[in-house]
Amino acid sequence: MSQHPDCIFCKICAGEIPCAKVYEDEHVLAFLDIAPVTKGHCLVIPKNHYTNILEINTAETPHVFNAIQKIAPAVMKSVGAKGFNIVQNNFEAAGQTVFHVHFHIVPRVLDDKVIVWHHGQYESTEAMLEVANSIHSHIKS
Ligand code: 5GP
Ligand code: ZN
Repeated sequence: MSQHPDCIFCKICAGEIPCAKVYEDEHVLAFLDIAPVTKGHCLVIPKNHYTNILEINTAETPHVFNAIQKIAPAVMKSVGAKGFNIVQNNFEAAGQTVFHVHFHIVPRVLDDKVIVWHHGQYESTEAMLEVANSIHSHIKS
């Protein structure tokens, strides 16, 4: 397992810091978030240390997604949720505070008043297409 010495989630994986574990396999660990947005809010992480989603070895992403598909229905059943958000923050500007890639599973019910984000709008269709074209041109094959 590749670990980072200063990483709190690596310490959780190594059992040096306790967690409320909900799932574990060879590649993945999942545990309750210590400061839940809603009851049952879980974090799903690869056991290997990667800073963010751009760094994760793509051989590992299926393990993480398989785990999410197992865990999310169990979370919903346990807390009586009718849906869930997968939230995944990358870099400080996007609210990442722990720099070991992780996926939040946030259970939801209708009208629970949790605000994920506000939507905006483009000034025009041309402005929107300009952004789309720029993104397209920067994508590396
Ligand atoms: P981020 O803001 O990086 O996307 O999310 C980090 C999450 O980790 C936060 O929701 C925070 O509550 C959670 N967290 C931080 N430290 C610990 C810890 O020691 N144990 C657990 N279980 N969760 C933690
Ligand atoms: Zn780590």
